[in-house]
Amino acid sequence: MANKHNFDPDCIFCKIADGKIPCLKIYEDEDILAFLDISPSSKGHALVITKEHFANFLVVPHDLLAKAYEVAQKIGQAQVSQLGAKGCNIITNVNEIAGQSVKHFHIHVIPRYDPNDGLELNFKPKMIEKLNLPVLAEEIKKGL
Ligand code: 5GP
Ligand code: ZN
Repeated sequence: MANKHNFDPDCIFCKIADGKIPCLKIYEDEDILAFLDISPSSKGHALVITKEHFANFLVVPHDLLAKAYEVAQKIGQAQVSQLGAKGCNIITNVNEIAGQSVKHFHIHVIPRYDPNDGLELNFKPKMIEKLNLPVLAEEIKKGL
């Protein structure tokens, strides 16, 4: 791993992928690793990472992104079938502004059990009335 493309020796998830730091592994293949979050938001909170270092979701190659989300889907299914979760949140934070603290792409798979669990993961629309949605749609489309 250490000589693989995109390895950052100062990155904690690179060290986990390299086996230098232990983790509670739940899935591994050539490209993807999944393990339990050390500071879980709920019982079974898992993280899915590419073994290769990419700073965030926006720069991950499509083939690896597809593989990572396939693993996230399997883990979500297992949280429901094995842990009794009623659903889950699949979240990836991009940059500090959005809550990303580890600068190595990862997907959170957070099982949900109780509607009153206090987890605030919903982004309520607060400014919709002030926004010109048709103009915004055009702006985004120009970048695709
Ligand atoms: P972020 O805030 O970047 O979206 O998520 C980073 C996640 O990584 C956090 O939920 C945090 O608890 C988890 N985390 C940080 N360091 C470690 C570690 O060394 N081991 C494990 N298993 N999880 C970690
Ligand atoms: Zn890394």
